[in-house]
Amino acid sequence: MTGLPAPTRPDPVRARWEPAMRLALAEAALAPARGDVPVGALVLGPDGAIIGRGHNEREAVGDPTAHAEVLAIREAADVIGEWRLSGCTLVVTLEPCTMCAGAIVLSRLDRVVYGAADPKAGAAGSLWDVIRDRRLNHRPEVVSDVLAEDCTAQLQAFFDGHRE
Ligand SMILES: [Zn+2]
Repeated sequence: MTGLPAPTRPDPVRARWEPAMRLALAEAALAPARGDVPVGALVLGPDGAIIGRGHNEREAVGDPTAHAEVLAIREAADVIGEWRLSGCTLVVTLEPCTMCAGAIVLSRLDRVVYGAADPKAGAAGSLWDVIRDRRLNHRPEVVSDVLAEDCTAQLQAFFDGHRE
């Protein structure tokens, strides 16, 4: 889960998403209370308002599909009242896995913004690139490494705590 070093020059593409990523980090911080790895996700509507949020609840509810992204996407679809999340952006602290990348493509999200890369399971550029696979009709934009150091540090602190 190591990201690229934080850019030292101004980076408007990533800086734009930093406030939302800080909120996703706060959402992720809710997961460990019930034994879950801290991963948090938000869905922002076309106007930038938060219409879905979720944190990893796999242990909390005993559901292998209860990843932060899936929960945030479900909530956003409820709020919008349909399954298409066109015009929306998903912000998540960790690079999505294959399941979540599939859900992102199927929900027609415009964009995915993630923090820490996941070289062991990432499906948005690290191990696979499901989201930008040219064989798919819908390919959301991907913005990686937003507050990657903070996102990696949060995960690392969780795993360090579990080793003690
Ligand atoms: Zn996932």
